[in-house]
Amino acid sequence: MPLVPGRVDLQPRITKSLPRAKGGRAQYRSRCWRPICSGCGTKRPGYDRLPAGRFEFVPLWGMAVYLVYAMRRVKCPQCGVVVEQVPWATGKCHLTTSFRWFLAGWAKRLSWQATADAFQTTWEDVFRSVKHAVEWGLARRDLSGIEAIGVDEMQWRNGHTYLTLVYQIDTVKRLLWVAEERTEMSLRGFFESLAGDIKAGIQFVASDMWKPYLNVIAEQIPSALHVLDRRSQHRKAASGDR
Ligand SMILES: [Zn+2]
Repeated sequence: MPLVPGRVDLQPRITKSLPRAKGGRAQYRSRCWRPICSGCGTKRPGYDRLPAGRFEFVPLWGMAVYLVYAMRRVKCPQCGVVVEQVPWATGKCHLTTSFRWFLAGWAKRLSWQATADAFQTTWEDVFRSVKHAVEWGLARRDLSGIEAIGVDEMQWRNGHTYLTLVYQIDTVKRLLWVAEERTEMSLRGFFESLAGDIKAGIQFVASDMWKPYLNVIAEQIPSALHVLDRRSQHRKAASGDR
């Protein structure tokens, strides 16, 4: 698995040595390629360089592996002064894209916590990796023909925080959506990500009786047959969850 996809020369060269009294560290600068604006994807002149940050890569032989890089900012006539686009990570994520896919792959075989423990990372990073994989898939996957969905919630952080999950549950079983919290906004984001004809094709929805979910389902797919999971409600009532 290449650390950096594509042809990027990261061969370092020493540009300046600091005296030992100031920490004794050599300062490295990557052999420059022209920075690319993360806003519009165009090569732009460099503006400045931010302090070095660490990007977490797939651990090797049980050891954590980091790519250390000082991101540059570009001065773009369209986007202003913005951070550059790099091929190994996106946005402000401190995980390399390779590591996100690695974690998301293992999270299909193991529980998310077991995945985090096995690769010395956190549950939150596994969650973010699965979310990234789901979003990537959603942007590219054929979602036509979805007839039935199930809305579920998952507790984490010792039961104090929730996630909202949406599954396709007809002839195809797959995870379609992961969002933080269990608010109306958590679920509404799923429906707003769907094209109108795909949303109109949903005929059946299963969920428990959590009021924000009921509100959004009634608002977004009013003609679908809504199957309520009362067992889930009873279980939660018994545990004093609601
Ligand atoms: Zn730009």
